[in-house]
Amino acid sequence: MGGSRLGIKVSIAALVGLLLTTSFIYWRSVSTLSQHMTWMGEAYGHLENGDIFHSAVHSMMMDTMGVPEADRYMQDRKRADKALLELKSYLVSDKSSAGAMGLVMQAIEEMELAYQAFREITEQLLNDEKSTHSPAERVEVQSLFDTIFHAYQKLHRHHSHQKKEIISKTESINQTINAIFFVQLTLVLIAGMLVVVYFDRVVLKVFDMTENMALHDRLTGLYNRHVLDRIKSELGRSRENREKGYGLILLDIDHFKMFNDTYGHPAGDQLLKKMSELLLGAVRRQDKIIRFGGEEILIILFWVDISGVKKVAEKIRGSVEGTLFDLNDGKAPKNVTVSAGYASSTSDEGSFDDLLQLADTRLYDAKKSGRNRVAGPDM
Ligand code: GH3
Ligand code: MG
Ligand code: MG
Repeated sequence: MGGSRLGIKVSIAALVGLLLTTSFIYWRSVSTLSQHMTWMGEAYGHLENGDIFHSAVHSMMMDTMGVPEADRYMQDRKRADKALLELKSYLVSDKSSAGAMGLVMQAIEEMELAYQAFREITEQLLNDEKSTHSPAERVEVQSLFDTIFHAYQKLHRHHSHQKKEIISKTESINQTINAIFFVQLTLVLIAGMLVVVYFDRVVLKVFDMTENMALHDRLTGLYNRHVLDRIKSELGRSRENREKGYGLILLDIDHFKMFNDTYGHPAGDQLLKKMSELLLGAVRRQDKIIRFGGEEILIILFWVDISGVKKVAEKIRGSVEGTLFDLNDGKAPKNVTVSAGYASSTSDEGSFDDLLQLADTRLYDAKKSGRNRVAGPDM
């Protein structure tokens, strides 16, 4: 269980790492996307200004070449000047490569020079207030307009290309963002599930620990009386346990009060611990040892008949008698004896509680008849 919890922790850590990495990519993509949106807005603006400039210059030519329209000319000139100014500001914010930038600068320069010459000649023609112009004048105006148009086309191609490039980059960023969104959603779901599983196990572990603590005696580590109800109901449920027989041994340390008085209470505690270790080594795994009272211990043996119970009781009494308990106090090991009363479902009548009562009465008999002995049913 510890290993699998570590596995869950490592998985959660890996998922959190992935989430952070994808979040970083997500953030980068979103900021690049917003930058692209700004560039796209600029590209559209420049295309629009190019168109305005071109159409305004064309109108200026028409205002000059047909019937002179000085007012309209001035309005168109204002539009053209403004659009040219906007186009020139583009040079500052262009994100193109150095080569493309050179092309744009050159085109705008050409356009501006031709426009200045175009303005000079068209304004001169307007001031002449002639209704007709010589072919040479017409050719000159037309040729300047063509130069402007040529430069405008170059700029238009550049901006259109830039627009397409931004759109395709934006689409791929958009796809990345969508993919990251679904990856993150999946990661969050998996992480959520792992967290639930992890906490589920932690809660189970805490529950197990709490239950364990509630059923065990702090000093000796043996079961406490609370486990009795559980054992009784298990015995009631399992026919096999009842049919194969069980036995109870109620054991009590002889003259323990005197032991405490002589060697001190801490030594008595230590003796209870050591005694418990001895008892645990004397029974099988499936048997239960319960600290029943202060120094009274109840042993429940499963699947044994009365002779088995007697044998275990005798064995325990003998081995306590033959043991010198080292109480880890730097003093000489101590010797104690125990008395026990026992009962068995194979030879005594009644319920678990009846058998317990019999074992208690027999313990009293064992004490009365001199201690350091075991007492069972008369056979
Ligand atoms: P008997 O042979 O008749 O059993 O005599 P006894 O002195 O053992 O019997 P009694 O029941 O009069 O005394 C039991 C003593 O056990 C009293 C109490 O101080 C001691 N005791 C009970 N629980 C603990 C414990 O947790 N630690 C220690 N050190 N002593 C305990
Ligand atoms: Mg006692
Ligand atoms: Mg007692």
